[in-house]
Amino acid sequence: MLKAMLGEAWLAMGANRLRTALTMLGMVIGVGAVVIMMAIGQGAQYAVQQTISTMGSNLFIVLSGSFTTAGVRSGSAGGPTLNVADGEAIAELDGVANVAPTHQGSRQLVYGSQNWSSQIVGTTPAYLEARAWSIVNGAGFGDSDVRSSTRVAVIGKTVAENLFGAEDPVGKTMRIQQNPFLVIGVLGSKGQNLDGRDQDDTVIIPLSTAQRKVFGTPFLGSVRMIMIQADSAETMPKVMDSVTSLLRQRHRLRDGMPDDFFMRNLSAAAESEAETTRTMSILLGAIASISLLVGGIGIMNIMLVSVTERTREIGIRMAIGARQKDILSQFLLEAAHRLCCRGRRRHFLRLVSGPEGGAARPDRGAALPMRAGRRQFLLAAGMLPLVRPLRAAGERVVIVGGGWGGLAAASHLRRLAPEIDVVLVDRQSAFTSFALSNRWLVDHGNSSIEKHDYAALAARWGYRFVPASVDSIDRAQRTVNTSAGRLPYDWLVLAPGIRENYAAWQVNDPQVVAELRQHYSGAMLNAADLPTLKKRLAGFKGGDLLMTIPPAPYRCPPAPYERAMLIAWWLKAQKIPGKLVIIDPNPMMPAFKSILLERFKAQVTYLDHARVRQIDPARKTVSTDIDDIRFDEAMLSPPQEAAGLLWQAGLIRRDAGGNHTGWADQGGLDFRSVADQRIFIIGDAAGLVSPVFGHYPKTGHVANRMGAIVARQIAASATGKTHPALLPESVCHVVSSVEPLEYTRIEASYRQRGDGFLMQQVKQVREPNPAGEDSAWAEAMYRDFLRP
Ligand SMILES: Cc1cc2nc3c(=O)[nH]c(=O)nc-3n(C[C@H](O)[C@H](O)[C@H](O)COP(=O)(O)OP(=O)(O)OC[C@H]3O[C@@H](n4cnc5c(N)ncnc54)[C@H](O)[C@@H]3O)c2cc1C
Repeated sequence: MLKAMLGEAWLAMGANRLRTALTMLGMVIGVGAVVIMMAIGQGAQYAVQQTISTMGSNLFIVLSGSFTTAGVRSGSAGGPTLNVADGEAIAELDGVANVAPTHQGSRQLVYGSQNWSSQIVGTTPAYLEARAWSIVNGAGFGDSDVRSSTRVAVIGKTVAENLFGAEDPVGKTMRIQQNPFLVIGVLGSKGQNLDGRDQDDTVIIPLSTAQRKVFGTPFLGSVRMIMIQADSAETMPKVMDSVTSLLRQRHRLRDGMPDDFFMRNLSAAAESEAETTRTMSILLGAIASISLLVGGIGIMNIMLVSVTERTREIGIRMAIGARQKDILSQFLLEAAHRLCCRGRRRHFLRLVSGPEGGAARPDRGAALPMRAGRRQFLLAAGMLPLVRPLRAAGERVVIVGGGWGGLAAASHLRRLAPEIDVVLVDRQSAFTSFALSNRWLVDHGNSSIEKHDYAALAARWGYRFVPASVDSIDRAQRTVNTSAGRLPYDWLVLAPGIRENYAAWQVNDPQVVAELRQHYSGAMLNAADLPTLKKRLAGFKGGDLLMTIPPAPYRCPPAPYERAMLIAWWLKAQKIPGKLVIIDPNPMMPAFKSILLERFKAQVTYLDHARVRQIDPARKTVSTDIDDIRFDEAMLSPPQEAAGLLWQAGLIRRDAGGNHTGWADQGGLDFRSVADQRIFIIGDAAGLVSPVFGHYPKTGHVANRMGAIVARQIAASATGKTHPALLPESVCHVVSSVEPLEYTRIEASYRQRGDGFLMQQVKQVREPNPAGEDSAWAEAMYRDFLRP
């Protein structure tokens, strides 16, 4: 019956095609007008709300007052009436969530051959919290940076793009007013603010650094603006009153005297903008409803004509037995039919008006912001972003080795793909850092070494830690076999570092190896050995102190020379009647040549291009190509190679002759194992990356960058995307002279040649006035994987 009626309706529509088309057109235009107008209104509202949310909530600012010289008035924020102490006092008030004293201005930035003018904001860490501004790469600065005026910077997306292009800015040094600033983080994108200014075109630096190095201030501690965030919208008026009374009291303003500061409620300004768009959206809806009403009346007319025209047909139907109900159903079915056709068009309209992703995005500067219905959006393109995390959920990344590489991979994965299960495995219970350790060994300056429990790190970042040794990898089953049981993986990151090859010195007995490690370790394998080495050095009262340098490649190329120079200085300063005997199979690093061979001539015997052949611990003697050398104390560092796990898993590279090279076989851009695309190999264990220069330097900096790069790749692969290749870089600050104190900054950067080969550029910069750049570098690195 229904089928027959539908057929009838279809025939009737076909018989009056023009009328049907006009009816449908009326419906399409009427409903389409409502949809488009509402979409425009909601889009505008959404755009304003997005912009407001980028400013932060419950915010107001206090600007310093104006001053007048020779009748010329400066305007707001012109005079030095506010200072940092005002900010500290405001922070004590009830209802205040964050206070950020701020000094800002425009300055030229320089990096390499690029330059860019940007807004520099000198402030405190509370600024980012108040503005709800996240850091997508690297880390922000802390209160200690503000206290010690360190030259570190967090940059916005626009600055990163214009100054650094495709390079990763974190860890790079740019210049602001001739002052070098280390970039420690990149801010998430906020787009334009309500007055159209690009909020991402900004550089945020510690307030004290801005005052001392960038803007200078005639009155130390004075600031132009204090940004204040109230606990909630309700408490805001009360907090503003309290701030006014506090400042009047602090500035000793008597009754009747005007305020010497200006206060602006950012939230109120933003809300009034939002209110305007809300009103506009209602207006647009009302206009569209009128057009729908007009369209509807038109359709009613056509339907009336249709019924009048078909009275004969109705009569015949009733004569052969149709009831009133059947006639009504027939016309309703026809209307429904038209509605369906129109509905399909409406669908189309909604789709062309764009998904939510195409709704007003301040950063894209959409000309006509639209926000169409959510259901259509999800049905069309919107399911994709939902499907991707679901696909990644349940995947597991196992990271073996919690050194600089493994910890960076874990922390970056947490940030990039929270839905992925990240498990870190290490046989030690804590991470100890080698960075800056040579100074600590001889108590130079106030250096210290970083040590962190893995369990605490895992809890801090939100990944899992398994304290176990990984004995083997079953690549077919995608499982690692650990001393604590089997661990399946979807992706495996191997960052196990190095092993020392005593067999190259003809020592094959494991017991002798253990004894040598216990008594004469050079502490190059495991930073946890450093305290023992320090004790041994403290107990050295004279004689020959032997130091062997491993043949290249070995970890941290300048480290042995820096250590040698500092120990020579220490022998001299402590007046210890001893000599440091250095056996070096490599050419000496030029930065240390004159100082070791000339300034510490009395403390150092340097054996150039000498190779250890054998060692006899009982006789305390090493045999070299040249001679046998006796020692009283020793720091032995045999040749290095990739950690044992990579050998077990068959992931070591062979040369053209089929011999093991000693290092892993992985890509130089993606760090995927050549043998298994589900395995990434990073850090010091990595092998040859370029026939032009060989290996990336085995430094913590490079290991950290590799960790970050593979995290991006895994996060992308797990969600079905691809990630563009990124290259690591390395920065090393070494003490190259103690008296006078001088540092050398060794920077290595990489690029891919047209033929695909990687090129390396190494720059050595002497820093006669280092001013804590080494500790600022270390702090920036540690924030990336130790301190969220
Ligand atoms: C004296 C010295 C000074 C240095 N100074 C600097 C510096 O100033 N700046 C800099 O950038 N670099 C410096 N480095 C180099 C830096 O320390 C290394 O490049 C960095 O540690 C390499 O990190 P990694 O993640 O590859 O390996 P590692 O840090 O060695 O970490 C490997 C981890 O894997 C674990 N592991 C290994 N095998 C297994 C297994 N089978 N099962 C479970 N766990 C396992 C180990 O316990 C270890 O925790 C220095 C090195 C030395 C020796």
